[in-house]
Amino acid sequence: MSAPRLAVRLIFLGPPGAGKGTQSKVLEDRFGVFQISTGDLLRKHVVDGTELGKEAKTYMDAGALVPDPIMMGMIGQQIGAIDSFILDGFPRTVAQAEALDDLLARAGKPITQVIQFGVNHDTLVRRLTGRWSNPRTGRVYHVEFNPPKVHGIDDEDGGPLMQRTDDTRDVVEKRLQIYAEQTAALKDYYRRRGLLQRIDAHASIEDVTAAILGNVNVILSEASGVEAKP
Ligand code: ADP
Ligand code: AMP
Repeated sequence: MSAPRLAVRLIFLGPPGAGKGTQSKVLEDRFGVFQISTGDLLRKHVVDGTELGKEAKTYMDAGALVPDPIMMGMIGQQIGAIDSFILDGFPRTVAQAEALDDLLARAGKPITQVIQFGVNHDTLVRRLTGRWSNPRTGRVYHVEFNPPKVHGIDDEDGGPLMQRTDDTRDVVEKRLQIYAEQTAALKDYYRRRGLLQRIDAHASIEDVTAAILGNVNVILSEASGVEAKP
């Protein structure tokens, strides 16, 4: 019998603005590890005007969390067919983490590591208030730290970039408060399970990528996907 294929199933845990989406896209582009961003999925529902989107929008505009049952329905559909993935922005509550554990145990696809992005408050605010994103693909830029070649235009698809309506100073402060109150407890949750790996995410985008690659317990290879570390 052949050995099961190695998989990498990561959670990127960290406050809004920590760089989770940026790094997920780098790993997806370079190694084909699928990014599952619940924020992007919700924003797509909002743009498409679905019932779910209408309900979620009220919470998102206020910087609050969308209720757990909505989020669990959404994540279940995503995880079904794929083996290796990065969860970006999920879970955000202990209830979501517990439900995710159940879901993944039933699918035989447990989380392999949780990467915690450490960034201080002032840096988070600067990153979020200067963020520009492509609403079609979720790719993000920063007016100062990672500008597109032409202001307001995506380098890749040539379409317009936008500032998110929840990236205003007031809503950003609210989201950071919600993170501290409802999400930060997940550090303990995953530390107790021996899965938590903290990285300093203040460094440049390239250096943060290098820190992630140095801390994951497998080798991600452009040619052959996921390999065991010697
Ligand atoms: P998150 O997904 O955690 O909310 P993002 O990846 O969207 O965070 O990043 C927030 C903002 O910070 C974006 O404008 C992004 O371009 C910028 N950014 C991300 N990583 C870095 C970094 N290492 N250094 C400077 N700016 C960064
Ligand atoms: P993000 O793009 O990750 O910054 O998420 C944007 C917004 O979507 C959040 O402020 C929440 O309102 C909502 N959201 C995204 N992921 C979740 C989640 N796992 N649980 C609850 N709400 C979420």
